Amino acid sequence: MASSHGATDNEHLVQSADPDHPANLICSLCRKFYTLGWVTGTGGGTSIRHHDHIFIAPSGVQKELMQPTDMFVMDFNKREYLRKPTVLKPSACTPLFLAAFTRGAGCCIHTHSQWAVLVTLLVERDFGKDTCFEIQEIEQIKGIPKGRGKVGNLGYYDRLRVPIIENTAHEEDLTESLEEAMEKYPDTYAVLVRRHGIYVWGDNVHKAKTQCESLDYIFQLAVEMKKLGLPWTK
Ligand SMILES: [Zn+2]
Repeated sequence: MASSHGATDNEHLVQSADPDHPANLICSLCRKFYTLGWVTGTGGGTSIRHHDHIFIAPSGVQKELMQPTDMFVMDFNKREYLRKPTVLKPSACTPLFLAAFTRGAGCCIHTHSQWAVLVTLLVERDFGKDTCFEIQEIEQIKGIPKGRGKVGNLGYYDRLRVPIIENTAHEEDLTESLEEAMEKYPDTYAVLVRRHGIYVWGDNVHKAKTQCESLDYIFQLAVEMKKLGLPWTK
């Protein structure tokens, strides 16, 4: 990776009055995700691809206080930083975000949602490791696309499957197993990480955000269903 020459390098890349500029969008998304409990304690992250530029929230910054000037910007093709604030650390999620962008995503969201974590524990306890999360006949499944290159979203009677990978001591070490899960489940737009959280991506910011919301709703419902002894599948 190329290094930058100072904290203000290429500041024009992240300064815009447009609320839909990626640097501004990441800040507003992180504030929303913070209130949902998805990114508390500086956990989680968000990245947006805009043409050949990847905008990435930094590591270790309180998500609700994030500023556009905190953003890292990478050239997607060269994999070099165009902007690297010197006082901040790049996100350990960066190679995982790049894996999603390589598969055509426009935005990738990583949360430490407790519902996602609980679902990974329930699947392990009741179905074992090497098993994905599966659920059907829940209306909110319609918020999830059928798969890459396929038209439309899942239907009410379709089965939603979300692969689960095992956690590692360091976030960046998840990259290989995330990529393996993406290959094994080519239709998925999300990968759960056991005892950790979830990576969700979409064709654009709107889709990644709504899919992340739909999945979190489904995971919360699944946890409550389990408490009541209700099955996830028929
Ligand atoms: Zn994480």
